[in-house]
Parts: sequence; C-alpha cells; structure tokens
Amino acid sequence: AEEGNVTTVTIVHTNDTHSRVNDGVGFPKISSKVKALKEANPNVILVDAGDTFHGQTFATISKGESIVKVMNAVGYDVMTPGNHDFNYGQGRLLELAGLAQFPIVSANVVKADGTTLLEPYVIKEVGGLKIGIFGLSTPETAVKTNPKNVEGLTFADPVETAKKMVKELQAKDVDAIIALMHLGIDKESTDTSYRVRDNVEGIDLIIDGHSHSTLDTIDNEGKTTKIVSTGEYNNNLGIVNLTFENGELKSVEPVVFSSEAAAELEADAQISDLIAAVTEENKVITSVVVGKTDVVLDGAREHVRGGETNLSNLITDAMLTLSGADMAITNGGGIRASIDAGDITMEEVITVLPFGNYVIVKEYTGAQILAALEHGTASYPELAGGFAQVAGATFTLDLNKEAGKRVSNVKINGVPLDLNKTYKVATNDFMAVGGDGYEMLKEGKLVAELSALDEILIEYIQSLESIPAEVRPRMTVIEKT
Ligand code: ATP
Ligand code: ZN
Repeated sequence: AEEGNVTTVTIVHTNDTHSRVNDGVGFPKISSKVKALKEANPNVILVDAGDTFHGQTFATISKGESIVKVMNAVGYDVMTPGNHDFNYGQGRLLELAGLAQFPIVSANVVKADGTTLLEPYVIKEVGGLKIGIFGLSTPETAVKTNPKNVEGLTFADPVETAKKMVKELQAKDVDAIIALMHLGIDKESTDTSYRVRDNVEGIDLIIDGHSHSTLDTIDNEGKTTKIVSTGEYNNNLGIVNLTFENGELKSVEPVVFSSEAAAELEADAQISDLIAAVTEENKVITSVVVGKTDVVLDGAREHVRGGETNLSNLITDAMLTLSGADMAITNGGGIRASIDAGDITMEEVITVLPFGNYVIVKEYTGAQILAALEHGTASYPELAGGFAQVAGATFTLDLNKEAGKRVSNVKINGVPLDLNKTYKVATNDFMAVGGDGYEMLKEGKLVAELSALDEILIEYIQSLESIPAEVRPRMTVIEKT
C-alpha cells in the first residue's frame, strides 16, 4: 500500500457447512453478501475452514462435486480440508481440488515421500497487499475417517508445521499471515487451535473449524492473535476486517453476520438456480420409495451413540441377515439421522448412512469378539461414536465393574460365546480397519466384502412385511448398586 494510506482487507469465512447449502445464511446469500462487500471495497477474500464436501445427499451423491460447483460459483478463494473432506478417499479429494477454481491448502497432510498432499499455502494479492494463507488439517482425521482414506498419509504436528509456514511466508514478504485451520477448540483434542495460537508467533489471524464453535464460545481474552469460527451448517457467516496503515497491519476486527441479519438480504439467483438444478437431478435417485414405517426410526446422535434404538437394531439385523454371519457389529456414530414415519425414501437412507461404508465379513475368535464388545461399551453411559450396535449377539453390561471387564454372558445365536472358537462377524469397512479405536477388528481373516451398507439396509427393508417399531435389546445393563 502507498504511504499514508489506509487499506482494509475483508476476510469472509465459513466452516463446517457439511453440505447444508441452503440452511442458515446459505450459499445463495453468502454470494450476495460477498458481492455487496466487494462493491463497497474490492479487497475481499472468501475462505472455508473445512468439513464442506460431505454430509447430506446433495453432496454425497456426486462425491462432493456438487459442492465444488457451488463454491466455484460463489467465488471462494481458498479452503482447507476438514476430516470429513477425506470421506471419499484422498484420491477423490485430489480430484475435487482439481475441479475447484480455488486452491485447497493444507501444510500438515504429508505423503510417504515427505511432500504434502496439497499445496501448503497460497498468497493472495489484494489492494496492493500480500496475504499469506496456510492450511492445517486436524490430526484426528487419522481416526475420524475410514483409515483407508488416509492410507500412507501422516498428519504433522500443527504447531511445528505452523512455525515452518510462518517462516516461509515471512521470507516471501507477505503483509499478513492467516492460518486457515480445521483443528477446533474441543478440550478432549490434543491439537487445538488454542495450542497453535499460544505456541506460534507471527500469525495475524486464525480462522478455525472442526469444533463448530462460534465467536462467543472461543476464549480470545487478552490474546493478540484472534481465533474466529462461525459455528456450523452456514448458520453464520464470519467477516473479519484487517486494517493496514502504510502496508502495516493495525487491527483485526471480527464481525458476525448471522442468519437473522441475512433475512434482509436477497439470495443470489444464480446460486439458488444452481442448487435447485442439482437437487432436481438428484431427485431421480433420492425420491425413490424403498419402504414404509409406522413409527419414527430413531437415529438421533444422543441415542445411537449411547444405546440401542429401533433403527440401530434394523441396521444390524440387515447386516446379519444379508451376510449370513454369526453376528453383526456396527458403530453408533456411523448412524447419522432418523427416518420419519411414513414412506422411507432413498434420500432418508443415504442421510442415515452417508459414509458409503461397505459391509465386511471377517472371522474373529470369541476372545476378539469379547474385546470388541468391551471396547464398544467402554464409554457407556457416555456417548461415543464407537458405541457397539450388534445383532446375533446378546450380552450383559455390568456397571458395577470397571471398564474393560464389564461385559459378560455373551451369547451368539443364543449359545454362550466360546473364547477359542472362530465366528463370522459382519461389520463395516471403517471398523474392520480399526476405525473408532476397534484395534481388535483389524485382525481376523477377511471372508467377504459385501455391498454398501445403505444398499443392504434397503434390500432388507424391501424384504420385510413390516418394519419393527420397538427396540429389541441385545444389551442388558446392570445399573450400579
Ligand atoms: P463434525 O462432523 O461435527 O465436524 P466430527 O466428524 O469431528 O464432527 P463426529 O460427528 O462425532 O465428529 O463424527 C465422528 C464419528 O463418525 C466417528 O467417531 C465415527 O463413529 C463416525 N464415522 C466417521 N467416519 C466414519 C466412516 N467412514 N464410517 C463409519 N462411521 C464413521
Ligand atoms: Zn470436523
């Protein structure tokens, strides 16, 4: 910038939109807002902090391509991938990066040869200023997507990587450094954006995703580097004004543009039309009715991650019946939505099971099965993605005993489990490679790779006279005395 000049650069950011294209502010209004901002001041950079390409049918049917189309049309400048953006595999992520008219950056996703999978950073030149933006992805991706999707990749330490990036960007004479991160601020996580903020010097702004946090839940108290994030599902649009005087960054001011504020705003028809066209195309597939239920089939996160429901029973029964295995086990966290009473559409089934999981049959010993049940109930009654949903097996969970020793009275098809005997077990491909911490399921001989889990559920629904309304418990809990 010129001497004596004040330049404002406006950063507009989204995160964890999870393909909710029309929810909250929604992409059509984000587009209008960005256009309006650009009219007032052309120095606008539009960024996304991940968990963007996956979630609902709108995205999953085209393996993320529909979202890239929308983002291209809205005019995104850069994105960093979240864990869910690896859900279609790293090859597909690279394809999507190829289709995107903006770079997808991440500095800590490292291939076996030591190079990064994606570009580590981009330098945007606006208003005569150079803004360096580097990406960081959560190391939790290693366990939060199918391990197959990240095979051969390592997630380097965010703090060390950020230090390297700052050095590299400073050497390129940038005027400001932005870290675009999918790390989050969850206490249980070891690699939070707080850790990066508190251990790395030279970052001017952290734009975060992953924990679905909003500005008021982030502790920026007394910190020079601010962390901003906009919640989830397009509920808000983040806006940050960077003010430069004589090319020097003087202030960083976040503003939140809420869905309430967006109510006033007219949607960008071009984006609405694009979304409508994709939705229409998808209807051929999504509107197909596959069955009927008299009651809600319960897939609520707080139910399927901490207990059995009529829907979790239905899914494991489908796996058991169509695989012909001795038992079936799947993770509660893989069940992502409920199904309304009435017609069951393809759309609903895909929304319940969006991961494109395959059903895998492996041989395990009784001891391995017991270990899996112990693992899958270790957190109970706390919610856990890995909560064991089973069919073909029944067991008792005694809460008076310590975790790891609480499962007893396991029966397979009514017969007590023999620890030395081998059983055929149907599971999903995520767990079969150790997903959700099921290390013991990595072992065992592969017997068969069956169809996709959603297809198996559909086939099972179609084979039933009627869908059972009740929960058919396989786990008996002995409460603490
Ligand atoms: P968010 O979606 O809110 O960013 P997150 O993905 O970090 O959050 P959760 O919503 O808790 O966290 O989802 C993680 C859980 O999803 C895992 O614990 C697991 O149960 C399930 N999951 C993730 N990937 C798969 C997969 N490929 N197959 C089956 N289940 C999966
Ligand atoms: Zn996430």
